[in-house]
Amino acid sequence: MSSELTLALSKGRIYKDTLPLLAKVGIEPTEDPERSRKLIIPTNRKEINLMVIRATDVPTFVELGAADIGVAGKDVLMEAECDNLYEPLDLKIARCRLMVAIPKDKPLPQGRARIATKYINLTRRYFAEKGQQVEVIKLYGSMELAPLAGLADGIVDLVDTGNTLKANGLVPTEEIIEISSRLVVNKASMKMKAATIKQLVNELAAVVG
Ligand code: AMP
Repeated sequence: MSSELTLALSKGRIYKDTLPLLAKVGIEPTEDPERSRKLIIPTNRKEINLMVIRATDVPTFVELGAADIGVAGKDVLMEAECDNLYEPLDLKIARCRLMVAIPKDKPLPQGRARIATKYINLTRRYFAEKGQQVEVIKLYGSMELAPLAGLADGIVDLVDTGNTLKANGLVPTEEIIEISSRLVVNKASMKMKAATIKQLVNELAAVVG
């Protein structure tokens, strides 16, 4: 007997990289969420549905049991300081690094530097551990613009190829953490649907690169 399972994931890079892993374990969505307006997408396995939500909402849905499992970046999990869910598998997808970047030839000032970022908790923690005083400015996007516009001395953002930084005259200076996407599981679901979830985790573990 198999239980119903809801898997939460976000559009874009995570969805694109998760899809081939799901296909390898025989799970295929019946609609393309990038095109569909539906937020719950059925799959060829009638007991499994996908829920397509904002990346930063995935931990909330899974922690509170609105989804049984989810795929979320380590950046999102650490920023949200989630500890009420299981993280059984590193899917090794959507890999990148969380980095400090500054304008080329303009080091951070000795005093209280201003850092623009989406990741205010991770940034505060990182600089506090180094004993460096910073003022953290919360932005929701286009962090690279902040130093150019005189809003901040530096930024903390995800870097993959480094092309976005380069195109905006910025250079990465410090790596904070390596990021990849993780499979996360609601704690109650792990008990109630143990067999189904363990089987899926094992199947996915076998196809992770
Ligand atoms: P790149 O130019 O390849 O270094 O990519 C940097 C841009 O893509 C920045 O705007 C990042 O926020 C975003 N980015 C890079 N890697 C990821 C990732 N794994 N997940 C989400 N956004 C990312």
